[in-house]
Amino acid sequence: MTKQTTTPKTTTHILGYPRVGSQRELKFAQEKYWRGEITQQALKEVGSLLRHRHWGDQVGAGLDYVSVGDFAWYDHVLGTSMLLGHIPQRHNHGFPDLDTLFRVARGKAPTGCACAASDMTKWFNTNYHYIVPEFTKDDTFTVSWTQLFEEVAEAQKAGHDVKPVLLGPVSYLWLGKEKEADFDRLTLLPRLLTAYQQILNKLAALGVEWVQIDEPVLALELPHAWADSFKLAYQVLSGSTKLLLTTYFDNITHHLDKIVELKVDGLHIDLSASPEQLNGVVAALPEHWVLSAGVINGRNVWRADLAQLLETLIPVKAQLGERLWLASSCSLLHSPIDLDLETELTAEVRQWLAFAKQKCREVSLLAQALDGSGVAVQECQHYSAPIQARATSALVNNPEVRQRTQAITPALAERKAPYAERARQQRAALNLPLLPTTTIGSFPQTDEIRLQRRDFKAGRLSEAEYNTALKGHIADAIERQQKLDLDVLVHGEAERNDMVEYFAELLEGFAVTRFGWVQSYGSRCVKPAVIVSDIYRAKPMTVEWITYAQSLTDKLVKGMLTGPVTILGWTFPREDLSREAIANQIALALRDEVADLQAAGIQVIQIDEPAIREGLPLKASQWQAYLDWAVNAFKISAASAEPETQIHTHMCYSEFNDIIKSVAALDADVITIETSRSDMELLKAFEAFDYPNEIGPGVYDIHSPNIPEVAQITQLVEKAEALIPAERLWINPDCGLKTRNWEETEAALHNMVAAAKTLREQW
Ligand code: GLN
Ligand code: ZN
Repeated sequence: MTKQTTTPKTTTHILGYPRVGSQRELKFAQEKYWRGEITQQALKEVGSLLRHRHWGDQVGAGLDYVSVGDFAWYDHVLGTSMLLGHIPQRHNHGFPDLDTLFRVARGKAPTGCACAASDMTKWFNTNYHYIVPEFTKDDTFTVSWTQLFEEVAEAQKAGHDVKPVLLGPVSYLWLGKEKEADFDRLTLLPRLLTAYQQILNKLAALGVEWVQIDEPVLALELPHAWADSFKLAYQVLSGSTKLLLTTYFDNITHHLDKIVELKVDGLHIDLSASPEQLNGVVAALPEHWVLSAGVINGRNVWRADLAQLLETLIPVKAQLGERLWLASSCSLLHSPIDLDLETELTAEVRQWLAFAKQKCREVSLLAQALDGSGVAVQECQHYSAPIQARATSALVNNPEVRQRTQAITPALAERKAPYAERARQQRAALNLPLLPTTTIGSFPQTDEIRLQRRDFKAGRLSEAEYNTALKGHIADAIERQQKLDLDVLVHGEAERNDMVEYFAELLEGFAVTRFGWVQSYGSRCVKPAVIVSDIYRAKPMTVEWITYAQSLTDKLVKGMLTGPVTILGWTFPREDLSREAIANQIALALRDEVADLQAAGIQVIQIDEPAIREGLPLKASQWQAYLDWAVNAFKISAASAEPETQIHTHMCYSEFNDIIKSVAALDADVITIETSRSDMELLKAFEAFDYPNEIGPGVYDIHSPNIPEVAQITQLVEKAEALIPAERLWINPDCGLKTRNWEETEAALHNMVAAAKTLREQW
C-alpha cells in the first residue's frame, strides 16, 4: 500500500463542554452572587475565566473548533429563551439582563421583583434539568440578549476557531409548553424562524463559518406535524452560515428520509447511543454534506476503545474523505470534567475511565490515527489496551454473581402470596389503625450531621465517634416521631449523604469519585458513582441502623432501601453489560438485605424507586421492554419478604397515567407518591386502573417551607377517599424531609397526624 500522505484532514470538535468548572467554580460564584456576597461583575469574570479555560482544554487537546454558546448561567434552554427575548410576561420588564435570567429560573434575583419561576424538567433521558419555555399565542421573538455574540467575539479574540452552538427552533418549541388553552405552540414556528434568521445573520457577520444547530428531538418518535416542520424551518434558516444539524441520545433512522431533504450542510449522529445507524446514514448522506460521527460517549465515564473505533471508521473515512468529522456523541455537559483530579481511584480503575477533558483528547487522537499518523495509531492501541483487558479482568467479572443472575427464574420475582392474602396477614401482624401515618424516610440533615460527616471523612472523627453521633440522631428522630404519634416510624437516614451514593459505597462493584460532579440544574451538581464491576453485597448495609432504631420503640420502624432501578439510573453504568443485567445484580444484593432486615425483626421495608419513570427510553415504542425488566428487578429485590412483611415503595413524581400498569405490576403492598400539588388529581390514574394495593398519596408539599393546615390535609384526604377506599389509604408527606428543618417538619407532621385522627373518628 502506498503511504497515505494526502489523506484529507478529519475535522474534530465536541458538541459542548461542562460549564461548572472542575472545582464547581461557577456554582460557588452563582450562589455567592445570589446571596449578595459578590457583584455581578465578579460573577461574570468567573464565567469568562471558565470559558477561556474550557476553550483552552479543547484547543490543547488538538480539536479544530472550540464550542461557543454551550456555556450557560443556569441552563442553555433558558439561555436560548433569553437570546430570543422570549421571557414569560410576569418577568418581562424591559431589556432582559442576567437578573432577568435568574428570576425566570429561581423566581428571584438580587434585583427586580419576585415572581413564580418557570417549571423545570428533565432534559431527555438525562439527569440534567432545563427551564421549560412558556408559550402563549401572542408571543414574539426579538433577538435581545447579546451573551452569545459576546462569547463568539471573546473566543475569536483569544485566537480560536469558533463553532457556535444553538438549540434548534423545532426542539426549542417542542421542549416548551403552552400556557393557554386551544393553542398549538407549533404555530409560533414562522415567527420564531425570523428571530433565528437574525441570529444566524449576526453570527455570519462575525465571521462564523459553521453553526452547530441542535435538534435532539429528531431522536424521538415525533407526531407528523412536528416531523414535517423541519422542512420549512431549515428552508428559512439556510443561507447565512453553514449548518451542522446535530442529533443525539438515540438514532434518527426513522426520520432519515426527511432529514436528508433538509437544507443544511452536515449531520451529526450519536454513534455511541446507536452505533448501528452508521451505515444507513452514510449511504443516505447527501453528496455535499459532512457527517459528524459522534463516537466518543459524552454521557458516560469510560475510556473509548479507540483501536476498535479506528477499525470501524477507516472505511467511512475512505468513502467520505474530508467530509468526515469526529466528535463526542453529545455535549460533554453530562460527563465529569477531569479524571486527573481523581487521585484516590485505584490505578486499575483509573485507566478505564475518561472524563470531559480526556474525551477531547480521544476525539483528536482518533482523528490523527484516521488521517494516517502511524504514531497516533500506535498511541490508540496503547490507550485502548486497558479497556480491552478489562473485558476479561477478574476484578470485573465475578463468577458467583454471574451464576446467581443466570439462575434467576420468573418465580424469583414473585411474593409467596398474592396481595389480598398478604394484606390479610399484614393486618393481623402489624395492627395498624385506619389511615396509618408515616413519612418517606429522611429527616432534616442538620448542619450538625453534615459537619460530623465531614469530620469523619477528614479523619477528625473516629468511626466509633461518628457512629455514636449517628445513633444520637436516630434516637432523636425516634423520640420526636413518638411524640408526634406517627404510626410507622423511620430511622431518618442521618447516615446517608445521598440515597444512591450511600449504597454505592457499601456495595461491591462501584467506584466513587471525589470531583466527578455533573450539573443537575442551575448551580446544583450530582456526583454519580461508577459501576465498574459485578455487584454484590459483602455484608448487611442497613440492618444495624434500623434495628437500633427499632430497639428504641414499640412502634413499627420501616427499613429503608434504594431500589435497583434507581441505583442504576443515578450512577454511571458499565457498558459491557445490559442495563437489565446490572439491575438484576443490584436487585439480588437488595433482596439479601430485605431478607436480613426481616430476619432481624423488621416488619415494614420501603424500597424507593423514584427513578423508574425517568429511565423510560426516548422512543415510546421501547417503553414496555424497559418497564418489564425494571419492574422485574424491583420485584426480585422485594420478593424475599414473607407475606406478613409489608413492602413499601416510593416514587416522587406525579405522572402515572402512561405507566400505571407497570406501577401496579411492582406489586408493592404500599406505594407512597407525590400528589399534594396536583390536588389528588393524579390519583385518578390509580382509580381508573382499579389499582389494587395500598396507596399513600402525599398530603403536603415538602418542597415548600409552608406549614399545611389540618383542614387543608383533611380536605385532600377526603378527595383521595372519593377515589381510593379508606382501608387502602395511608397518610404521609410527598417525599423525604431532609431539606427541611426540624421546626417546620414537626409543625407539619403534627398537623398531618391531627388530620388523620380527625378523619379516623369521622369514618
Ligand atoms: N427515602 C428517601 C428520602 O426520604 C426518598 C427520597 C426520594 O424519593 N427522592 O429522602
Ligand atoms: Zn420522593
